[in-house]
Amino acid sequence: MVQTERFQDTLLEKDEKYVWHSMKPYNPKATIVAERAEGSWVTDVDGKRYLDAMAGLWCVNVGYGRTELADAAYEQLKEMAYFPLSQSHIPAIKLAEKLNKMLGDDYVIFFSNSGSEANETAFKIARQYHQQKGDYQRYKIVSRYRAYHGNSIGALAATGQAQRKYKYEPLAPGFIHVSPPDSYRDDTNVSDPMQLSSVQDIDRTMTWELSETIAAMIMEPIITGGGILVPPDGYMKAAEAVCKKHGALLIVDEVICGFGRTGKPFGFMNYAVKPDIITMAKGITSAYLPLSATAVRKEIYDAFKGTEEYDYFRHVNTFGGNPAACALALKNLEIMEKENLFERSRELGEKVLNELKTLLQEHPYVGDVRGKGLLIGIELVKDKGTKEPLDVRLVNQVIAICKDNGIIIGKNGATVAGYNNVLTLAPPLNIEEKDLNFLVKTLTEALNQIK
Ligand code: PLP
Repeated sequence: MVQTERFQDTLLEKDEKYVWHSMKPYNPKATIVAERAEGSWVTDVDGKRYLDAMAGLWCVNVGYGRTELADAAYEQLKEMAYFPLSQSHIPAIKLAEKLNKMLGDDYVIFFSNSGSEANETAFKIARQYHQQKGDYQRYKIVSRYRAYHGNSIGALAATGQAQRKYKYEPLAPGFIHVSPPDSYRDDTNVSDPMQLSSVQDIDRTMTWELSETIAAMIMEPIITGGGILVPPDGYMKAAEAVCKKHGALLIVDEVICGFGRTGKPFGFMNYAVKPDIITMAKGITSAYLPLSATAVRKEIYDAFKGTEEYDYFRHVNTFGGNPAACALALKNLEIMEKENLFERSRELGEKVLNELKTLLQEHPYVGDVRGKGLLIGIELVKDKGTKEPLDVRLVNQVIAICKDNGIIIGKNGATVAGYNNVLTLAPPLNIEEKDLNFLVKTLTEALNQIK
């Protein structure tokens, strides 16, 4: 035991020296040096096991340790490791065909490597599309406060989380923000979703900015990293109508919501809309290899078939649609279908949500429990009447107690100014029911211990 602890210490020393971590201030005590993972469980170098109730960064949808995914990549690497998509190859063709089918048969797919890139690609397509149509003034992209859309200068400009942008500005110009729907705080008691304040904000902002300057609006079906904001019924459909009214394309960011996270193949399918552009990453390979995609309605794609010098899409990346990543993604989708994981996410998500609601309804700090599928948020407040967010110190205490007891949960911490108070759960979609019970029990006990 003493020896293994030294092993961990040595690695942490080297970790501090050589590895620059994302997203958090350096804190060796909070760092898990992981070594192995199987199903929903991760084991660190000292042999301590953690139930990963965040599926990594909301991405290991089919769980860890799937050797059939490794085999699919290995076979493809032996057959042909790489060929650029300025030409083509079989795994990319098969995967694009499959994604198009899942999306309802009206989309052409552009492959990249990360969610940020998929969104950057979408912004460029939206801007150029309007130019191709002779609509030269449309360049602005509308997005919502609290949403995260990526780390690059454009995707971060679309992001509505000031704490992530601070010290990196100025970012790309032409990005404007509106209020997100907040079913917990807004008055959602309206007869027509067009009257929702969050919908009216989109409509007014597009008018004030001049409709003819708006290229697109980007939105996640459910804002994830910004605090699991499940919109009121009718919000997304009304937002789609507002975009149409102003001539703006609707880009739906499915980087987290896609591939079963919300209990449907894609999150937008909960809300009966037809996006113009859909971006996806994470769950497309369950994060076993990097891959992302930007799916574009055929009619938009067709606008790029002109014969003028700059009519085609002059956008390229070296690794996007790597053959091994595409082959792995196809196997990943096959597993999801075979194991009925979308439906499983819907059913188990509903069950856990109801359990948490019942167990936590009397808790003085639990203001709201919400979610869809295996995507759940617990909003913590100082006072249920005023809904003032709970101190981050107490939110962190819950996470630390869960970690001590072998569970990794998340929060929208250090990202949304003033609202770092939502605990997040997004486990692998094949998480065992006994593990979900352990999660609910441990989390409830942790919430009862904070002071
Ligand atoms: N969009 C959403 C909704 C995300 O949550 C993320 C990452 O967490 C991204 C885009 C960016 O994806 P990536 O980190 O792969 O660049």
